[in-house]
Amino acid sequence: MSDRYVVIGNPVAHSKSPLIHAAFAKQTGEDVQYDRLLAPVDGFDSAVFELIQSGAKGANVTVPFKQDAWRLASRLSERAKLAEAVNTLSFAGGEIVGDNTDGVGLTRDITANLGVPLAGRRILLLGAGGAARGVLLPLLSYHPAMLVVANRTADKAMQLARQFAAYGEVAASGYAELGEQAFDVVINATSASLSDALPPVPASAFAAGSLAYDMMYGKGLTPFLQFAQAHGAARLADGLGMLVEQAAESFRIWRGVEPRTAALLSLLREQLA
Ligand code: NDP
Repeated sequence: MSDRYVVIGNPVAHSKSPLIHAAFAKQTGEDVQYDRLLAPVDGFDSAVFELIQSGAKGANVTVPFKQDAWRLASRLSERAKLAEAVNTLSFAGGEIVGDNTDGVGLTRDITANLGVPLAGRRILLLGAGGAARGVLLPLLSYHPAMLVVANRTADKAMQLARQFAAYGEVAASGYAELGEQAFDVVINATSASLSDALPPVPASAFAAGSLAYDMMYGKGLTPFLQFAQAHGAARLADGLGMLVEQAAESFRIWRGVEPRTAALLSLLREQLA
């Protein structure tokens, strides 16, 4: 019988994870079945317990359950502990092991797929919600020259900077206080693009030759990417690569093999067009 995994969310019908993991399984020859699981918003824990009972080996976790999964896990990786969110659960030996692969998904997409180095670069991270928190440790692991978190509610950026100070230098800022500073990599981890809004990032934030990265993905350019293009960013990217790379890291955790991602990413990109 195939080893079973699911993506748990609410809603979950839109999730591309089953398609991505089916492609990884086919490519690597792993005997894996991967389904969607819609859990009631107040029913995450029981959904997980039922899954474990049914013999499932693991789960990806998406909106709105990433923090529930973090609370429920009996063991956490360092990156999940700090992210305060879990997107990958593994069930083995009576344990519920939680990890967070979103951050590595982002940094691999930037460094490996887009070929943009992060070491020694000036990075601006917009937003201080779950997505921003999840990528801070992986970003710091590249030893950027500067990492600034800017948020509409500046206090939340300051809290994050304090919390991650032990892992590297993180500066916090409101948008207005960014002044004329320029950055090599500007990452939009706000949810502004979901409502077609533009975070109030100054035009001067985009250094010549910079990369602008929006974690949201979809057809066409988000308002953030349009703004970046108009104000000097040389490279533009959305979060589709991050999505595929976080899935690849989950697959590696579960199966011990690293799937190739390039062909699948091109296929998904074509489907979005
Ligand atoms: P949260 O709700 O936790 O945080 C939202 C953040 O966006 C806050 O910092 C909020 O600021 C800020 N914000 C919202 N609207 C605006 C606005 N109009 N202008 C400026 N700032 C704004 O969301 P998440 O962190 O969970 O998600 C953020 C984004 O990341 C989403 O678009 C999500 O789709 C994407 N994502 C993509 C992934 C991928 O694989 N590609 C994986 C995970 C997330 P304030 O604190 O002031 O309210």
